[in-house]
Amino acid sequence: MLSQFLQKLLFVDQFGIADGKITLLGHRQIMLHASALLELQEIDESMIYNIVKKSSFNNINGAVEHAKVYKRIKNVIVNELAQIGQKIGRNDEGAIKTLESFFDIYGLGMMKIVNLDNQKNEASVEIKDSTIAGEWIEKNHKKSRSSVCTLTAGVLAGMFSYIFGKDVDCVEEKCRAKGNDYCLFEIA
Ligand SMILES: [Zn+2]
Repeated sequence: MLSQFLQKLLFVDQFGIADGKITLLGHRQIMLHASALLELQEIDESMIYNIVKKSSFNNINGAVEHAKVYKRIKNVIVNELAQIGQKIGRNDEGAIKTLESFFDIYGLGMMKIVNLDNQKNEASVEIKDSTIAGEWIEKNHKKSRSSVCTLTAGVLAGMFSYIFGKDVDCVEEKCRAKGNDYCLFEIA
């Protein structure tokens, strides 16, 4: 099954796979095995980027592993959405639906926004079946001491920075790799 969003993009010639090219809204994509992305993110041993210090994260005990990966991915997403922004709008219900559909086709898992506060620029997102966490468990056969979905946190940070029109960060509070039932991301 192909997501309705992709079917729509396919119909207006904004998604295609042919001749060694995957194109999405005019940009080339690369499809890699999830384990490849897990390995790439784990190369980054940069110090834990402690965003608890930020006042908006007062109540959250989270931190971000693989700080360089997180920051770069966040920037990439912010730039990507700035480029295609006119096509999707910002901050209204329709735009958020579109961004959810976008997130789906990244293949990182299915996101569910469980809290969205446009006044405070805060959000909470659950991901039930995180691809990165799944790969981590398969590779390590044990529970992780920290959350492992750095790529996902970076994508969400970029996405919500776009939605709020303000620079926000994302911390993964719960992670399936830690033994939680789902991954929970707090954005502020
Ligand atoms: Zn996770």
